[in-house]
Amino acid sequence: MSKRISNTQFNNLIIQFIGPLLMSFCFITQSIAIENQLTGQSQTTDEIYKYTTNITVKVENFQQAVKVFQWLDLIRLTNIGEATLNSIENSQHQLIIFHSDVALLSAGITGATLSENLTNGVGEDAYIKFFLDMDENGTNCILNENGHYVPYLAVHNLFHELIHAKHKMNGTWLYFNSERQAIKEENIFRIEWAGFRFTSYSLRTEYFEDEDIKLSYNGSCHSS
Ligand SMILES: [Zn+2]
Repeated sequence: MSKRISNTQFNNLIIQFIGPLLMSFCFITQSIAIENQLTGQSQTTDEIYKYTTNITVKVENFQQAVKVFQWLDLIRLTNIGEATLNSIENSQHQLIIFHSDVALLSAGITGATLSENLTNGVGEDAYIKFFLDMDENGTNCILNENGHYVPYLAVHNLFHELIHAKHKMNGTWLYFNSERQAIKEENIFRIEWAGFRFTSYSLRTEYFEDEDIKLSYNGSCHSS
């Protein structure tokens, strides 16, 4: 069955998401020991929500949680997004996504305990620091090696970090080439995402990461 949908259908889909989405929120007060252990931070006043049994969202307010749940649901609409989230959910490890102002500059940071488990097929618990006050257009864009500006929407940005997390949680992380690994899969997502929206797409530079330049929208990002 084709997954292509029109913009109108897409907007309806967004609206239809909101109801079930809010219903699916489950506020929990369980210990955040895992997150503290991973990040070395202690922020006990934040709100914690479960997206799935092993994906936890830790935020400053409910609106941030709504955004993450929406973006994850949208990512899951693509084949590679669904496969990526399934891989994360089928790993034996926990993922925590939490709001961080620091992540505004880097547009997302994924981490895990550095051990041989990241590369030997065992995997580790992981976390994603994400600037959750961004809107769907994101906070950054990218200049690829061909001189083309590449948009970096919130879903592109989050998907990129999910790829890092997937590999760290399944022990398939390429230590010396993790960025190329993530960009390669991000580009597949970009093509699928553009197919949904009947829009054109620009791809990141897959094999020459040093020539990809990440820019803030406060700088000189222009569509080309
Ligand atoms: Zn990366």
